[in-house]
Amino acid sequence: MKKLPLSTHVTALSPRRPSRAEAEEAVRTLIAWSGDNPARPGLEKTPERVADAFGEYFRGYKEDALAELAATFEEPSGYNDMVLLKDIAFESHCEHHIAPFFGTAHIAYLPSERIVGLSKIARVVDIFARRLQTQEGLTDQIASALEEGLRARGVAIIMSARHHCMAARGVHQRGVATVTFRFLGEFERDSALRDRFMAAVRD
Ligand SMILES: [Zn+2]
Repeated sequence: MKKLPLSTHVTALSPRRPSRAEAEEAVRTLIAWSGDNPARPGLEKTPERVADAFGEYFRGYKEDALAELAATFEEPSGYNDMVLLKDIAFESHCEHHIAPFFGTAHIAYLPSERIVGLSKIARVVDIFARRLQTQEGLTDQIASALEEGLRARGVAIIMSARHHCMAARGVHQRGVATVTFRFLGEFERDSALRDRFMAAVRD
């Protein structure tokens, strides 16, 4: 599989950022198009709230995953085996319907000579999750950022998520979990290492 350059999302940014008033007006239009009256009490403040919520859901566009990973340090013990973080919770939105999908990620990396604060890995997940995504693209971008930012010898990721757009529309399947995988570097080449990762995730 071809690796996407990390900057794809950044260069795809909107050429002109609309004003806050324009964003709220767009919400009013969608409410009216749905069949309700955006001026009725109860909906009056909704455009404002939706704009605030979008600011939160998509704050990842303003953040830089590689900058988060810049502060690495030398591990005095010389530890160089896999570092695995399990059950990192994430919330994202599908780029096809702007519907939420959420779940957990299991992420391992093989340090080269430097390691990173563990919370930074969860931060990187959050930065990419808070953009319009497919789960496949999200998995890939996190893996590439970790490989590049940590100069890791390998990265392994499993993400499992439930998609609102599958539960509430289209096929109306509520219980389905979508699972995506990405193995880079030594995890891609070494099946025994991959098996150790899979076994540790299952534990
Ligand atoms: Zn969708």
